[in-house]
Amino acid sequence: MSISGIGMTSQRARARMLENLKVQGIADPLVLAAMNAIPRHPFLEESIQQRAYDDTPLPIGQGQTISSPYTVARSCELVCHGQMLERVLEIGGGCGYQAAVLSKLAKEVLSLERIAKLVGRARLTLRELRINNVLMKNVDGSFGFKAAAPYDAIVVAAAMPYLPDELKHQLKPGGRLVAPVGAGESQRLIVVEADANGGFTEKELESVKFVPLLSGVS
Ligand code: SAH
Repeated sequence: MSISGIGMTSQRARARMLENLKVQGIADPLVLAAMNAIPRHPFLEESIQQRAYDDTPLPIGQGQTISSPYTVARSCELVCHGQMLERVLEIGGGCGYQAAVLSKLAKEVLSLERIAKLVGRARLTLRELRINNVLMKNVDGSFGFKAAAPYDAIVVAAAMPYLPDELKHQLKPGGRLVAPVGAGESQRLIVVEADANGGFTEKELESVKFVPLLSGVS
């Protein structure tokens, strides 16, 4: 497929993706604008780029997947609550797509990914798209990244068996965390909000399916 061919396909397909997101209930104009601003196909292997705007997870190599557009938009909406953010932490950076979407919703994004090959590719794609406010680190993000805390938002993109307290404590007062929690094949989406007095409010939302959080780097 020629580059211009991909361009046309991408514009039309992205418009359709946006319509789909709205039908599924994504309403935050900032999130919709961010999803519209970031092309999804450059994050994928050429052989599956044609499916880039379908509402489905897709393989990104190393046995991992990019989350569906709806899943990405939903978690962004849950942490943003209609506001622009200062600093966001993502755990499970994968191909860098969600970090790129978050780069339009925050001043700084720190994205942690345990697989070095994915980090290398994600960095290249982000550079090609001239996204300069995402820092990807090849580390195990199971317990967040305390050195750069606190964060306005923490987005976890891999299934956690349980939600560690350390992670909640890396939120600013008023900050929000969204994570798939559960040990089985499907998990529950959990949203935690930090209050001004060091307490937390936790809400359990819909059932979701994420790849598991693993420990160590590779
Ligand atoms: N947000 C990603 C989704 C990637 S899927 C995207 O837009 O592509 C989840 C990712 O979490 C995988 O790439 C996996 O390697 C990574 N992961 C799993 N356990 C991890 C851990 N402990 N620390 C950092 N990344 C982890």
